[in-house]
Amino acid sequence: MLSVQAMQVKKGINIEIVSIFWMIVEAAVAIGAGIVAHSLALTAFGADSIIELVAGGILLWRLYVESNGASIERVEQAEKRASWVVGVSLLALAIYIVVMAGYDLWTRSGSETSMLGLALAVASGIIMPYLSRAKKKIGTQIGSKALRADGSCSIVCAYMAWTLIVGLVLTACLGWWWLNALAGLALVYFIVKEGIEAIQEARGVEDACGCCH
Ligand SMILES: [Zn+2]
Repeated sequence: MLSVQAMQVKKGINIEIVSIFWMIVEAAVAIGAGIVAHSLALTAFGADSIIELVAGGILLWRLYVESNGASIERVEQAEKRASWVVGVSLLALAIYIVVMAGYDLWTRSGSETSMLGLALAVASGIIMPYLSRAKKKIGTQIGSKALRADGSCSIVCAYMAWTLIVGLVLTACLGWWWLNALAGLALVYFIVKEGIEAIQEARGVEDACGCCH
């Protein structure tokens, strides 16, 4: 008989496997379609999938460590390492968005239309909120903040998918080429905050000021 905790960890593993599978599809299709359609926004969406893939991969490892019956110390160590990798991934994502948005604004390039890209973004926009919710829920149940932070990666992905859709449609209809870049920048604050929280978690800092109360 598996304990409740062990069952939740198993569920977490399944969610991460589904998530990783989808990230591979997303990266391949978005980068491929982005190159074919000369769409920076689409290629950027695919590059983001690779960052998410790294976060998903470390979480899968962390959950396997726990499900293989490792000691509490080993699990805690894995949890910290996972938090660190997810935190760094989130910060990399934020830097990436700033650079890409700057490049978009500088070169005045918006989202070019690609039907395949649009279909992919719609699929991600529907799948990712579901995965994010599942990761956050299981993360809370098994006491893994790293898994919760990975759930934030997933919701950022959903948000990027919907901005991509809106950006593609509005650029095609109204010529609002700057919209995608601005929407991306609006996300940066949120991503940096999540990233810093995950890194603090990894370093075992409970308090933001680092002093004792
Ligand atoms: Zn994504």
